[in-house]
Amino acid sequence: MKKLILLLFLANFSVYAQQKSPASVHKKVIIVLTYDDALMSQLNIAIPQLDSAHLNGTFFLTGNITDETLPKWRNAFKHGNELANHTLYHPCLIIDGKGNPANNSANYTVYTILREVGMMNNFLHAIDNEKTHTYAYPCTESKVGGVNYIDSLRKSGIVKYARMGGDQNAVITDYNKLDPLLVPSWAVVGKITGDDLIAFVKKVQKDGGMGVFMFHGVGGDYLTTSAQAHRELLNYLDKHRDEVWVTTFKQAMDYLTGVKQ
Ligand SMILES: [Zn+2]
Repeated sequence: MKKLILLLFLANFSVYAQQKSPASVHKKVIIVLTYDDALMSQLNIAIPQLDSAHLNGTFFLTGNITDETLPKWRNAFKHGNELANHTLYHPCLIIDGKGNPANNSANYTVYTILREVGMMNNFLHAIDNEKTHTYAYPCTESKVGGVNYIDSLRKSGIVKYARMGGDQNAVITDYNKLDPLLVPSWAVVGKITGDDLIAFVKKVQKDGGMGVFMFHGVGGDYLTTSAQAHRELLNYLDKHRDEVWVTTFKQAMDYLTGVKQ
């Protein structure tokens, strides 16, 4: 019995070391899977696919969480995923007259956006009990009311790391030049196949460094990546876990900033 317990302990430890310890991963490239807007298709399709591939992602949530979804997000966190901050109300610039004017970023000030990011941090803390949370700019906008708020966010200290947008070329190769509050990502939109997603990972493997995916719907909702394309990407990442470290945005950034010091 004791032997069995010891074996179980060692097995657990090796899994833990594989997933959590960055010390052994410095030769690997890093891939971060991020998902925005607290969408049902992420709970129903993306997370079960991640679970079966034994991979984790970062979910940039808004305050759009209900009695039904809150325990599911908490459960996703317990399975190793990161819950992160995408504001409470997702303010964006309204240019076509559509949308809730209360959430028009043109009507925000630096004070109101920082207050909202702070409140969302408190909300997330109530769900996952984490002390800090990473951030993603709604609609990848760095301005509210015409004013750039990145440096105010930096000075406030309420978030250490923030994800921005970008395209398939958003491979981060020089960590010393990376602004932790402006981390680029590939905003996956349009008809994208599994091969397209895998090609981005291969590009990161070729160039070295880190690549961040920004997904929205997976097999549903909007800006949708098909469930099949997403599964094919996860299968590739699962098969290449010796060379590719798939981790959360927070863990990747903690690791990278540790490298710089
Ligand atoms: Zn969003």
